[in-house]
Amino acid sequence: MKPGCVYLDYNAGAPLRAPVLESLRAWSPDPANPSSVHAFGRQARSKIEAARGDVAALANVDPAQVIFNSGATEGNNSVLAAFAGQRILTSAIEHPSVSEAAPQAERIPVTPDGLIDLNALDRLIKTGAPPALICAMLVNNETGVIQPIADISALARRCGAALHVDGAQAAGRIPLDMAHLGADFLTLSAHKIGGLSGSGALVLGSCRPPPVLLHGGGQENRARAGTENLCGIMAFGLAARAAQKGLDSYAQIARLRDHLESRVEAVAPAARFFGRAAPRVANTSLFALPGLNAQTALIHMDMEGIAISSGAACASGVVKPSPTLLAMGETQAMASCALRVSMGWDTTEPDIARFISAFETMANRLKARGAQAT
Ligand code: PMP
Repeated sequence: MKPGCVYLDYNAGAPLRAPVLESLRAWSPDPANPSSVHAFGRQARSKIEAARGDVAALANVDPAQVIFNSGATEGNNSVLAAFAGQRILTSAIEHPSVSEAAPQAERIPVTPDGLIDLNALDRLIKTGAPPALICAMLVNNETGVIQPIADISALARRCGAALHVDGAQAAGRIPLDMAHLGADFLTLSAHKIGGLSGSGALVLGSCRPPPVLLHGGGQENRARAGTENLCGIMAFGLAARAAQKGLDSYAQIARLRDHLESRVEAVAPAARFFGRAAPRVANTSLFALPGLNAQTALIHMDMEGIAISSGAACASGVVKPSPTLLAMGETQAMASCALRVSMGWDTTEPDIARFISAFETMANRLKARGAQAT
């Protein structure tokens, strides 16, 4: 990390874990096609299988259930493509790699707290032909709200639908257990847990044939063609191992998050916190101070050396209010003020203090402007 910078945007992309960095520094220039039968190929293969074991442990599955790919976008697209032309239900707060890959899907509404509305899902299921696929993310990337996947799975089982769970923001933040989730497909992304971007996995529920998006050389047991990204996969394995080890201490980040929220409230009593009443992962806080535009706040924070987000990073650059907040019933005006702070394993109390101090400056300026206007 650049000295003096405070990074509070882990949901967009986490810094590399120390073991990943070490392995990259020691990276061998040897050729590394795991399909080759010679010693170099065999060595690459054994590294991939070791990583597969570590990623499988993170989702509590058998290694044979893990298909390496280029990330959660590919995993989500693979699943949705396999159900093209069939009835699909997706929650209204899915990542664009789900919502844009299935524009024809029917949307399951969420409650004002950001939870998938189980009653609405039940009603949707009963309206028309039984759906073939239900998509529900485990943790929302903007609010951090943990979705009731086991309940959704029970509804899916009852109507015979397959269940796809986007686990990109859940891995490393809460324990994952494929069987407990009752999912048929789970997508993971390496760069959210301290691996490299451009790497991830599609995890299959037991007995599911893989949805195949890329055809070709028969890699990944014919489930995903293309020479394996050895460097990315190895880094993913190391990050998964570190993430699993760090799960016990992860909940402690909630202490920092709660401190941040209480200080924001003290400095700006008008601030609104989203998803606060629902179960949330420990690291995420999404809030808005009406009148403080998120883009203005982001620029101020950036000038102070503090990296945060105005919502989903994938939507950043395009100034569009968060679809998650709109689905939760917030107004466009409120959504355009939303700031997301997402912490991680390296976040410290002084980091939060720096954020609070910069936020206080902005809130005071806003107050002064309001006082001048009156
Ligand atoms: N799903 C969710 C919930 C995400 O937050 C992201 C990353 N922003 C993705 C999918 C896409 O992941 P990747 O970058 O690995 O394609």
